[in-house]
Amino acid sequence: MEDGAADGLVDRTVQQEIDDLRVRRPHVLLLGAGASLAALPGGDRNGMALPLLRDVAIDLGLVNFFPAELRELAVTDFEAAYSKLVQQGDSSVSELNELIGDYFARLRLPDEPNLYDHLQLCLRGKDAIFTFNWDPLLLQSRVRLEREGLTSDQLPELFFLHGNVAVGICVQDRITGLVNRGAVRGRPCSECGQPFSPSQLLFPVETKNYTADPFIADQWNAARYYLSNCFMFTIFGYSAPKTDVEAIGLLKKAWGTVEAQALEQTEIIGRPGCDHNTLRNTWDPFIHTHHYEVLESFFDSWMANHPRRTGEAFISQYFDVQFIDNNTVPRDADSLAQLVHWFEPLLSAERLAHVPESGS
Ligand SMILES: [Zn+2]
Repeated sequence: MEDGAADGLVDRTVQQEIDDLRVRRPHVLLLGAGASLAALPGGDRNGMALPLLRDVAIDLGLVNFFPAELRELAVTDFEAAYSKLVQQGDSSVSELNELIGDYFARLRLPDEPNLYDHLQLCLRGKDAIFTFNWDPLLLQSRVRLEREGLTSDQLPELFFLHGNVAVGICVQDRITGLVNRGAVRGRPCSECGQPFSPSQLLFPVETKNYTADPFIADQWNAARYYLSNCFMFTIFGYSAPKTDVEAIGLLKKAWGTVEAQALEQTEIIGRPGCDHNTLRNTWDPFIHTHHYEVLESFFDSWMANHPRRTGEAFISQYFDVQFIDNNTVPRDADSLAQLVHWFEPLLSAERLAHVPESGS
């Protein structure tokens, strides 16, 4: 129990928070490469490092796929070099796509509970996670959480804004699902029984086109819906690189004006030692006056301190002006089963409330 509780200063106990399910609006979590790095600081279960996009040319030995005049650029600005390659109609583009996709698809979560498990368990079915990351970690976590008995309506919706090595689409039925690749086991489309086609991965800088590909278009449509409805927006490990100007523009449009979002909280999680002012300025269009926080760890976030009740805790603190106790998630669970077990009181309250947790 927190100090406040011991002093009798708490207006609202953990049990009251667990029993409160009044919020229907979504909490939106946006993930960038920094989230995967925070999840696997020492590499994946086999010691494989998570490559940053700017490093893939060297990390994956791709430099020789580029013609001599583009090799230097490939090392300093991979996306720019790749873009030129696409413009030249170079035949090595599809081979590059395959190699990069196969590399990311081999990444695997360690057996121990991982940050990605926390991220999903701390949100509800009404909430959504949008990721720019190609790695399959979020999906591997999802599959194992479902194996632990969680159902999809108990977990946030997942969307992949730049495609994902493990996710594909059935264009005909407009359904997305897992593809067979690396450590990921695919499932066929539930409508037609055909395997899903892999989602597109790379987007040349100058011509990022978020509407041409049906899979990507669906992901961004969802972003528009969720961002315009959310009460809390958490950005984790995404520094909004210059190559993503178009993506940021789309996010801004989806979010609407800051004035219209007057009651919302924006939370930015950077790496330890990050420059708070820079992050604050980057995300300025998403911040209403003082309703923001810059954090250096997920474990300081609303999600970690008020798991599955972020909206309710936010209302209690800012509207009901209560001193609220924290219900902080454990960082030291020995197994995934133990971590899931810790969430049981929250899940049980949700089952009792029979709250339909759809995003609509
Ligand atoms: Zn189908």
